[in-house]
Amino acid sequence: MIVILMGAPGAGKGTQADYLMRENAFYKISTGDILRRQIESKTELGRSVEAIMNQGRLVSDSILTAVLKLELENSRGKNIVLDGFPRTIAQAEWLAKNEQIAGVLHIDVDREELIRRIEGRLVCSQCQAVYHASEKPPKLAGKCDRCSSELKVRRDDERDRVEARLDVYTRETEPVLGFYKKNGKYFRVDGARSQAEVSGRIKELLSQLER
Ligand code: ADP
Ligand code: ZN
Repeated sequence: MIVILMGAPGAGKGTQADYLMRENAFYKISTGDILRRQIESKTELGRSVEAIMNQGRLVSDSILTAVLKLELENSRGKNIVLDGFPRTIAQAEWLAKNEQIAGVLHIDVDREELIRRIEGRLVCSQCQAVYHASEKPPKLAGKCDRCSSELKVRRDDERDRVEARLDVYTRETEPVLGFYKKNGKYFRVDGARSQAEVSGRIKELLSQLER
């Protein structure tokens, strides 16, 4: 079964994808994490996407579909959660041609709350665990609870890029929600609730999809 998590930057897709991976043994495909790892390892792909990502713009559909093709081939037969893909109508159309989707869970959060969450977000440079300066501080300042590595502010979380990313989301990604509403795969989740409540709701929806 393939489940898609959708939502604006800061909505909590990554957190909930991690939950599905940990608690429900899903295989997680997080395109943002994959691309950031390529940048860290200075691969050719990483070099080609770094500037675009740091500006908060979208990487090209052709690069993303190539990444997805590989990931999907490596995870045949598993339950998969997609985090960060599809982000454009073209990506959604590519996916519809290639795979059967069980459902699309939209974690819906209003813009003011998104900005509040993104500002203050800290990410582990090694294991990608996510923290928040005031909401979910690490036990030791600047260090990951899980692996003790250094926490960083993502380049695209810097203030001037956040508005740009939210605009890209409204323009390019919101129409994708309409795409899934039309084919009956769309489910809204109230993302203003606590992480545990959102996880609970996702779990509930998954059991309906399985039936
Ligand atoms: P967030 O959801 O918080 O915006 P992600 O980690 O999912 O962050 O993605 C970070 C960046 O990676 C995006 O701003 C974009 O540059 C790139 N990216 C990730 N997934 C895609 C995609 N499906 N299509 C195009 N670009 C993508
Ligand atoms: Zn870590």
